[in-house]
Amino acid sequence: MNENESNTSAVVHNIRAAKRAVSTVKTTLGPMGMDKMMVDGGGNVIVTNDGATILQELDISHPAARMLVEAANTQESMCYDGTTSTVVLAGELLGNSELLFSKGLHANIICRGYRKASNWAVDYINSELAVDAEEEFLSDIARTSITGKSLESSITHVSNLCVDAVKTAGGDYDRIRVLCQPGGGLDDSSCFSGVVLHKEFLLPAMPLKPNGKALLINTGLSDMKGEENIQLSLSSANEYQQYKRQSGRTQWVDCANAIISLLPDGGVVFCRDTVHEVVAATLAKSGISLVHRIPESDMTALSKLLGTSISHSTDDLVEAVDCDAECKQIGDMKYIVVKGEGEVTTLILRGATMQTLDETERGFEDALGVVCLAYNTKRMVAGGGSAYIGAALYLRSKAATVDGREQMAIEAFADALESIPATIAENAGHDPLDTILTLRNEHKTGHKDSGPDIDNGGACSMTERHVYEPFDLVRQAILSASEVTVSILRIDDIIGKRTE
Ligand code: ADP
Ligand code: MG
Repeated sequence: MNENESNTSAVVHNIRAAKRAVSTVKTTLGPMGMDKMMVDGGGNVIVTNDGATILQELDISHPAARMLVEAANTQESMCYDGTTSTVVLAGELLGNSELLFSKGLHANIICRGYRKASNWAVDYINSELAVDAEEEFLSDIARTSITGKSLESSITHVSNLCVDAVKTAGGDYDRIRVLCQPGGGLDDSSCFSGVVLHKEFLLPAMPLKPNGKALLINTGLSDMKGEENIQLSLSSANEYQQYKRQSGRTQWVDCANAIISLLPDGGVVFCRDTVHEVVAATLAKSGISLVHRIPESDMTALSKLLGTSISHSTDDLVEAVDCDAECKQIGDMKYIVVKGEGEVTTLILRGATMQTLDETERGFEDALGVVCLAYNTKRMVAGGGSAYIGAALYLRSKAATVDGREQMAIEAFADALESIPATIAENAGHDPLDTILTLRNEHKTGHKDSGPDIDNGGACSMTERHVYEPFDLVRQAILSASEVTVSILRIDDIIGKRTE
């Protein structure tokens, strides 16, 4: 084997490893995509339809395949959705380059062709196919993202919830929180402005509507500080009991007094950890309510909502801030709803079991993200892979103007783009080739929103079916897929590296 052959075979090995990872997620693409059940050695089960989640949970060791996982993660963090499309497109681009290699094209020429093609495709979609995403389309965008997921059973309710949440949060994804509660059905899910804690006030005697001030404390009020580091000499068990009672009580009372001095007219204290009942009872007498054992993410959300910092102990308490906390019964659960100056929206998701709820939450986060994206960028395209078909036709016409072998790489890129609608149709049980031929025809005759008809086979108008997605999602999918493909193609050798 000469040197050139060994280099080629390194690329081919990489391509094959990456394609194996792709084939796992390919059948999940589109509204009729199937789910995967993943089981680990400990018997833990995940059921999911989300491309990024599947790839993250797969035990992938091949370095080239891991690069694909990274591409999916990038897509997830930038656009929240479109991960399966990115990976399928990258898989197809890699597969097509293997064919080009066998015809004698050099990796550099393929990379150059792919780069040109991806930029042209994105520019074309931006200038010819993307339109303004008015607010009335946001719920259609949410619906497109939800179709095919477990959330589909109450799609109208869920997509309206998403749009409401995004509008209230002003398009800021970080200001939306999702709270999952098993029990009930998806239709019982609801959206609240403010932070909702799945908690009750610590003691029943506490005022249910505290006077509008609040403190956040990032610790508990039960363990005695420094107790583990002191030496005591006591002569009897009685003496020890007395010591404990006294020292405990004074410290607790000090704690309570420090809080009371900042909340003279009553209020509410949110505590990260456990609070001793003596402290709670003392506070209750002064009209102060207390919520304890609050998860860290809820504490952060509260601090964002109230616009205050979280104190680390009762020694460094900051000024109390305005806050409106109320104990509410929502459905069959009791919650504390907190409102403040800042805008934070909480969605309470209900579902039958924790496993389905996990998948529901993932789907929900995708849909929320996609709606945020459309809300902020205000650009969208018709879905179902119609933009990819349009771009493919454009690339083929453009390829003819390019001299030399690069032309072949651009044509291969166009073929790969068509794999998205083809796979959507295939997963819905229709012939991918027939679908693509019909779609090409439709697009050539000016029906630029034509995509695969998942119910009857063939083509149909995506606009009529209200299938839309943000332009940025498609743009990022094309750019990430071509970027990762080029990176994999540029590797001509895999070499062992010193472990650091
Ligand atoms: P991804 O992880 O890439 O988002 P999905 O499984 O969510 O993968 O599939 C998304 C694709 O399905 C998008 O191209 C979207 O436009 C398409 N799609 C969604 N609803 C429909 C529909 N009703 N008809 C055809 N295509 C659809
Ligand atoms: Mg999706």
